[in-house]
Amino acid sequence: MLLPRLIFAPSPSLRSITRVAATASRPFASDPLCIARSSSSSSSSSRSKSAQAPTLARLASSCCGSSTSTPPSNNPHKYQTPSSSFTTTTPTANYSTSSPPSPFTFKMSSSDNNKPPSAEDVSKYLRETHDRLFDNNRAWAAEKAERDPGYFAKLSAGQSPEYLWIGCSDSRIPAEQITGLEPGEAFIHRNIANLVCNTDLNVMSVINYAVRHLGVKHIIVCGHYGCGGVKAAMTPKDLGLLNPWLRNIRDVYRLHEKELDAIPDEEQRYNRLVELNVEEQCRNIVKTAAVQQSYAKNQFPVVHGWVFGFHDGLLKDLKIDFQAMLKNIQKIYNLTEAE
Ligand SMILES: [Zn+2]
Repeated sequence: MLLPRLIFAPSPSLRSITRVAATASRPFASDPLCIARSSSSSSSSSRSKSAQAPTLARLASSCCGSSTSTPPSNNPHKYQTPSSSFTTTTPTANYSTSSPPSPFTFKMSSSDNNKPPSAEDVSKYLRETHDRLFDNNRAWAAEKAERDPGYFAKLSAGQSPEYLWIGCSDSRIPAEQITGLEPGEAFIHRNIANLVCNTDLNVMSVINYAVRHLGVKHIIVCGHYGCGGVKAAMTPKDLGLLNPWLRNIRDVYRLHEKELDAIPDEEQRYNRLVELNVEEQCRNIVKTAAVQQSYAKNQFPVVHGWVFGFHDGLLKDLKIDFQAMLKNIQKIYNLTEAE
């Protein structure tokens, strides 16, 4: 099998940054899941744009987002990714103390633009990026209490969420915010590439608790286009601890190799793998005894597969036929009968 080319070549700009700046930008610089980033964001004009509130276009082109200038591939084998034009840049925007803290106004930079950030700059940055969370929290709690004086008494009473959400850890897909849910409405589990592995005690415990004890009515697996985890899985490279995790996605590719290899466009093939990965994770949920037994008894939960798009902020329902999937699964994985 021809091996696809690698896509993790660090850009010259990264290699030349200073130690302090490298430390500050480490999440980008060393992140194997962060693949496609626009080189244009390093210009001064885009710096000022980056300092502003995020737009959907920015989300779509930032870390782990899909590339808008995918270079053509010469390798005839389909299981590959183009590599040559991907570049990585340092985080941009101003480190400003004159305006109120907000998530996208803080970026590591020097008070003197001609020098790398000093130790004092770094310390100040860390303190302010930490403290703003508590500022936000106090404001949030005050607002909730003002709107509903009994809000926290109700929150303390317990939870009865309708939904279990299994999504990607990607920071741009906050489940409650994109679905308009309030605290208490969704039980949440997130990991790289929204995987449901039967040997992962974490996710299996979450599903078991959500179904057997919370009685959730819907289980949603939500992937997203431009998923860095899915892209990394298509890269034939030793990624250390990520190898066994990404193996699950490589297995999804193998299961659907024929369909995926028939898609000539690289980006469309990625997108389809994202969808197929969501579908396979739904199937893994349906294989669990908790879901099968609860559905046989209560007619819930129902499992759904969705995909989020950065370009428009909308969720796509893959319209998985849960009942057909369950019936099909139970030919081999029927666990409705207790021991
Ligand atoms: Zn992802």
